[in-house]
Amino acid sequence: VAKQQGRNRLSYFTASLQEQAQVRRMLANDLRQAVAKNQLHLHYQPIVEISTGRLIKAEVLVRWLHPKQGWISPSDFIHIAEETGIVLEMGNWIFSQAVAQLKAWKEQGMAPIQLSINTSPKQYYEAEFDVAQWLQELQDAGLSSADVVMEITEGLLMENSPQVDQKLLALSEAGVAVALDDFGTGYSSLAYLQKFDIEFLKIDRMFIENLAQDGDDLAVCKAIIVMAHKLGIEVIAEGIETALQASLLEEAGCDYAQGFWFSEPLNAQDFAEILAGQASLLPPKC
Ligand code: C2E
Ligand code: MG
Ligand code: MG
Ligand code: MG
Repeated sequence: VAKQQGRNRLSYFTASLQEQAQVRRMLANDLRQAVAKNQLHLHYQPIVEISTGRLIKAEVLVRWLHPKQGWISPSDFIHIAEETGIVLEMGNWIFSQAVAQLKAWKEQGMAPIQLSINTSPKQYYEAEFDVAQWLQELQDAGLSSADVVMEITEGLLMENSPQVDQKLLALSEAGVAVALDDFGTGYSSLAYLQKFDIEFLKIDRMFIENLAQDGDDLAVCKAIIVMAHKLGIEVIAEGIETALQASLLEEAGCDYAQGFWFSEPLNAQDFAEILAGQASLLPPKC
């Protein structure tokens, strides 16, 4: 019986792996057409200046509206896009779309907003990710390099690759700011903060979650903020969900805040309404 069960369990396990692989293949196939079929959508999450609540930046977050599965979150398809190489075309589309949106808002007379765009490490290795081309797109849209920020992750800086270094240098020489995303979850080697030209650190949500309960998390946040400021880097806290977290970070000298407490990621229309009203997103202090 044990042997029988064992075998069943094994075949069940194998089937589920096969199933997983099948879902993956299906998603990869669908993803290949998602750009062409207009199934990708950009959402915009407000980033506020923490001391004033002023909305001055937004993070661009991609979503996939799959014809059968409905909305799919980027955590469920970015890794597939990376493994299949689709992330290159997708990344170029995301950038163009964000630039077009920014241009439209500018033409409508909206308050200026800086868009923070996520990039995948994979893009930096490929010739198709052409920094000069992106800069040309900005210029053609009547925008400047100060209108966008590139979000990268810690791992990219650890690669020690000439291609990566060259692209980061090109961004920096063109005056495009770089933000280090999910700071504290990766290698957190401090050497690269000096080696590379980094304008913003984004403290990962992990350190914010229990900020009000966990003195260690608060200590880590304070240390990151002091260190960043000494290096001339501004700090954005991610994943702020409560008033208390916001005020603790403000007291700690954090520059910018992003999280559900201020606003969830919004579609372009909803975001534009907030931008047009320029209503302060800073809720009353607790
Ligand atoms: P990320 O860049 O760290 O983005 C922040 C994530 O935290 C977003 O998830 C956002 O919706 C979520 N978030 C924001 N505020 C809160 C909060 O207060 N509480 C909680 N629990 N979550 C919050 P999302 O949109 O699902 O994106 C997940 C990840 O997918 C992103 O993490 C980023 O790594 C990747 N991603 C998203 N859009 C793009 C893109 O256009 N290109 C690339 N390469 N990656 C992207
Ligand atoms: Mg990000
Ligand atoms: Mg970042
Ligand atoms: Mg992040």
